[in-house]
Amino acid sequence: MDKEIKELLDKIEDFLRYQEELNLPIFISESISEKSKTKKLNTEFIDDYLKNIEEEFVRANSLVELDNMINQCQKCPLGKTRTKFVFGVGNPSADIVFIGEAPGADEDIQGEPFVGRAGRLLTETLKKIGLQREEVYICNILKCRPPNNRDPLPQEVEKCEPYLLKQLSLIKPKIIVALGRIAGNTLLRKNESLTNLRKNIYNYYDIPLFVTFHPAAILRNMGWKITFEEDLIKMKNYYDSLVR
Ligand code: URA
Repeated sequence: MDKEIKELLDKIEDFLRYQEELNLPIFISESISEKSKTKKLNTEFIDDYLKNIEEEFVRANSLVELDNMINQCQKCPLGKTRTKFVFGVGNPSADIVFIGEAPGADEDIQGEPFVGRAGRLLTETLKKIGLQREEVYICNILKCRPPNNRDPLPQEVEKCEPYLLKQLSLIKPKIIVALGRIAGNTLLRKNESLTNLRKNIYNYYDIPLFVTFHPAAILRNMGWKITFEEDLIKMKNYYDSLVR
């Protein structure tokens, strides 16, 4: 028995060391803690992570203040190619936060996430399940558009994800929904198919995280529309069970 426990501890230690070497947050897992199932959720894991960052933005007291502090960012080359910095939009104390991968062409021009055709589909689908766009919060992992809508690069994610974490620390959502395979895999440090990602509720810094389709994928294949709606209904039912 002792031997088994020792082997298990060694495995955990190896896993944590591996994550550390990759410079990844370690508070990502498949299971939801008891605390994150409760109504009052705090963001202590995110705050612990932010404590190690010695930059002014981590001291922002509101989303508006944070936006003002970071919207001139030039930490990666996307700062040179963007038209507008796309901070995020919605209820500053939303219970549900939707996260896409990065702004597209329309978002880059307007400075608001999910405003193109895909965005309109998202807004419509939210309405269908009883959520108004204004009551949730919508943002992206990257705040600037990658040229030709290519996938975010790891170096860009490394620079930009702390901004997302600070947003989450201010909003304190009860649920996160990652929109699409890229957003899901990027946040969870996985390399899975969307089919697999959709099977679980994950734990992102102790916040329950669902993964569903990117609305642009639905526009390419309207056959998935119903499944997308079903995913969002499942998420909404889970949310209702948290706040009931
Ligand atoms: N796709 C995204 O991932 N985000 C947007 O804001 C728009 C399209």
